[in-house]
Amino acid sequence: MPIIVQKFGGTSVADSQKILAAARKAIRAQQQGNQVVMVVSAMGKNTDLLVDLAHQITDHPPAREMDMLLATGEQVSVALMAMAVHSLGHKAVSLTGAQIGIKTDSIHTKARIQSISTERMQQLLDAGNIVIAAGFQGIDEEFNITTLGRGGSDTTAVALAAVLKAATCEIYTDVDGVYTTDPRVAPEARLLSRISYEEMLELASLGAGVMHSRSIEFAKKFGVSIHVRSSLSDTPGTLINSQPESPDQPVSGAALTRDEARITVCGVPDVPGSSLAVFSRVADRNITVDMIVQNVAENGKADISFTVPRGELKSALEAVGEAAAELGASGVLFGDDVAKVSVVGLGMARQTGVADRMFRALADEGINIEMISTSEIKISVLVARDDAVRALRAVHQAFGLQDIPTITDYSLTHGAAGGAAKRAAASARAATDPADVVARLQGVNMEELVIDDVSLDQTQARVTMMGVPDTPGVAAKTFEEVAAAGIFVDMIVQSYGHESLASLTFTVPADRVAQSVEVARRLADTFHCKGVTSSPSVAKLSVSGVGLRSHTGVAIRMFRALTERDINVAMINTSEVRVNVVVDGTQGPAALEALTAAMADVRR
Ligand code: ADP
Ligand code: ASP
Ligand code: MG
Repeated sequence: MPIIVQKFGGTSVADSQKILAAARKAIRAQQQGNQVVMVVSAMGKNTDLLVDLAHQITDHPPAREMDMLLATGEQVSVALMAMAVHSLGHKAVSLTGAQIGIKTDSIHTKARIQSISTERMQQLLDAGNIVIAAGFQGIDEEFNITTLGRGGSDTTAVALAAVLKAATCEIYTDVDGVYTTDPRVAPEARLLSRISYEEMLELASLGAGVMHSRSIEFAKKFGVSIHVRSSLSDTPGTLINSQPESPDQPVSGAALTRDEARITVCGVPDVPGSSLAVFSRVADRNITVDMIVQNVAENGKADISFTVPRGELKSALEAVGEAAAELGASGVLFGDDVAKVSVVGLGMARQTGVADRMFRALADEGINIEMISTSEIKISVLVARDDAVRALRAVHQAFGLQDIPTITDYSLTHGAAGGAAKRAAASARAATDPADVVARLQGVNMEELVIDDVSLDQTQARVTMMGVPDTPGVAAKTFEEVAAAGIFVDMIVQSYGHESLASLTFTVPADRVAQSVEVARRLADTFHCKGVTSSPSVAKLSVSGVGLRSHTGVAIRMFRALTERDINVAMINTSEVRVNVVVDGTQGPAALEALTAAMADVRR
């Protein structure tokens, strides 16, 4: 009998009527011939209330006790849900994470799932029960209760769907599905009929709170087809699987991370090992870093800038302070009034003129870009928090995300129980060899890092405009001119520009470097920049896999491996599926060897 996992978020179980409505949905699915596992979140805003309560007692609640407290929210919901199913005349058993056997590591409040036992759930299902699982929680080796991070019930649901080899995982929430951006921030946002794992993973990790990003890591790794839909209406919702909605569109969605903070370590010696000293200390505190940008060095000193979640600024500054002292850096700058706006799309990897369209939209709104970082499938900019919503909406509009794309095959997208959706789910799953999936599920650690590939690209060159003024419109003009010259730009980074000014660096095909430098020089004159530098041949090393950003250790492994070979990192960019570093052109093969060796134990 097929298994369906149905997850109900906080708003979908906020009161007794909603709990009963959710119970009816599960019963209906069972009556249609499925075995049903429900995963439920804490009621309404209960988790927030518990967090508040803890902070009324102390500013520094011990993480272990926080987990003990927060897990109670879901325990209330599962018990009430089981009662609701019983009251409607059907069999149900509620289980906590520990009772299911969801084993995690011991990183309290951010635990990762290591393994899940299916035996008890399967027995209960076979006996005709609806199994009601508490989302967001697990247990570590010492039987301590752990939680998976805010929003983590999605991850429980997809992980259960993976181990139970469920036909589908339905995520019931308070919106109709996944939109091109948060519909509460931009009401013009459009409901997507489907979205690929890569795009959803990136959007989720860049602020699209509709899905917990780690749930998409699971889905991609184990080929779980996800269907996001409203618990309040019967609209068809959004399918998340291996296919994008319209492959030709450069951008599929936009996201906002409102609460970011930026940190700049100034005057760091530009030698191998400096980045490692900074980021290993931050990673030791399990803080996820984004938008890492290093200035091209002047007088042997460089600035290293990056962003962290605003709530982790204090802890990140402690880490950075230690590193700055060790490195003899000249100072540390930070700001917590910034937000990150990003666009994501599989299609942008094959098109020119995407970045400049985003920068132009911001320039036309008079919005200053404080930092830029791109990867193959996303462009992120850091802006003042006060500008963030305006920036998001301008960018959303610039890519026409509110309009329905013309080329879309809707036949495969809707109706979880329908044949079309089953075919779509089947094709998504067929992409993954079942034997391979089972083998990996039996591994010790379900959420462990998986690397697919390490590769070297020696076809690119670097161009840097030094001392770019901190005013709106510079990036827009620059990349419009570069695009007008027909030059394909790969990586773009703009560093944070404090007293001295920011630098803007990009990579281009090596055979176009002379022409790119010419364009950059012309612009540098117009903008009164300090000058243009370039490197005719750089080596770009790429490590690809799943969940690379949320595993804080990936960049560290790379920095360490390169430092040991005395190789300096000139540029880095990170996404959920890829980390790229640029090093000197002559060091490409040595860097490839170093990274391949460093990733050997996590290679798929
Ligand atoms: P749940 O409690 O059901 O897990 P969440 O609040 O975690 O619900 O997620 C749903 C919310 O995600 C929506 O109310 C919406 O405001 C927000 N959201 C952010 N980005 C998006 C997006 N791209 N599409 C849909 N919703 C989004
Ligand atoms: N209740 C938890 C939270 O609010 C987990 C979840 O809802 O996904 O973060
Ligand atoms: Mg959620």
